[in-house]
This record gives sequence, C-alpha cells and structure tokens, in this order.
Amino acid sequence: MTNISIQCLQCGVELNYDGKPVFCGCPNAASVRSDVITAMDLDLVTYITKKESKQGFTRQDLAFQEERRNRKVRKLNFEER
Ligand SMILES: [Zn+2]
Repeated sequence: MTNISIQCLQCGVELNYDGKPVFCGCPNAASVRSDVITAMDLDLVTYITKKESKQGFTRQDLAFQEERRNRKVRKLNFEER
C-alpha cells in the first residue's frame, strides 16, 4: 500500500492520504489521492517521505501526529470534532 504525504508550501498544510482524498484548502488546491498529487502549482507541493519501517513508532506517536494533523486541517474536517 502506498502511503504518501505531501505539504502545500503555500499554506503549509500537511496532507496525508489515508484512504480518502484530502485537500489543503488554500488557493493552490493541493490534494493527494492514492498516488496522484494535484495542485494549481506543483512547484508549491513537496513530498514528505516517511520511513514505514521505523522502529519504536508507537501508537502515542501516531495519535500525536493525528492530533497535529487534525488541528491543522480542522477547517476542512470540522465535522469530525
Ligand atoms: Zn495549500
């Protein structure tokens, strides 16, 4: 399974694809869906590479990352909170 994370450099929002398309929400309209990345200006999108085999990656780490992500994109996902 491909797990892609990108960051929109225009608004700084980090996008993590986890089964559903996500959008950063700014005019650059960066989005990631499966292994497809779209944006108004792809120069303003950067990959975030993550080592899936990293050891000691605990559920607390995941929860923390999740919380950070949700806070960053809460404008888009406010219905989840
Ligand atoms: Zn953006």
